[in-house]
Amino acid sequence: MNFITKNLLSLRVKIKACEQKFHRRPDSISLLAVSKSQSIEKIQEAIASGQKSFGENYLQEALPKIEALKDQQMEWHFIGSIQRNKTRKIAEHFDWVQSVTDQQMAKRLNDQRPEHLPPLNICLEINISHEQTKSGIDEEEAFALAAFCETLPRLKLRGLMAIPAPKPTFDEQRIEMRKLTALFTKMIEKGFKLDTLSMGMSQDWEAAIAEGATMIRLGTAIFGVRN
Ligand SMILES: *Cc1c(COP(=O)(O)O)cnc(C)c1O
Repeated sequence: MNFITKNLLSLRVKIKACEQKFHRRPDSISLLAVSKSQSIEKIQEAIASGQKSFGENYLQEALPKIEALKDQQMEWHFIGSIQRNKTRKIAEHFDWVQSVTDQQMAKRLNDQRPEHLPPLNICLEINISHEQTKSGIDEEEAFALAAFCETLPRLKLRGLMAIPAPKPTFDEQRIEMRKLTALFTKMIEKGFKLDTLSMGMSQDWEAAIAEGATMIRLGTAIFGVRN
């Protein structure tokens, strides 16, 4: 059995155990395989092991992969920061964009989403740990941006995404995750119809599940360390 298959099988078992441990509904966590810097062959190994959704950060790198694998009907998520001149290709080739951070970007994605495709699923990226170096909006800005996105017919607002600051212990990781869950809950209370809370990476996904993540995004844990 190859390395990627082995990792995916063992992760699925661990995710299940984690769902049980933290009283989450069975199968309520989806696993996004983050395939940035991974070859098409490696992605194919993951597909052969039953993986169906992949996340990419860089448009130029992603397009040839999406093209090469287009017969396999995978779901592609854009999770990187978005340059203004890249929105058209993103709107044309991805199923999800998890890194929406402003109205102009949302409007462009909406206007550029091809008619023959379903509305583009989006998440707002929140800078939950308020780090200078990270993209994403502050919590208070999320309500206005979400309201704006809901007026755009070619976008479907699904939820929130964040990259919480890395913390060394499980308990500290949970505290970071909890901030995003609090915002998610508050937005649902205000009437936004959100079903996706995308948080948790290879180092902190268990804390994310403990705090209510519905989607975890794993790269290293599936494919090994990136070059
Ligand atoms: C790279 C990346 C991941 C995956 O990171 P790992 O630590 O390798 O699991 C998840 N989310 C985003 C936004 C990323 O850029």
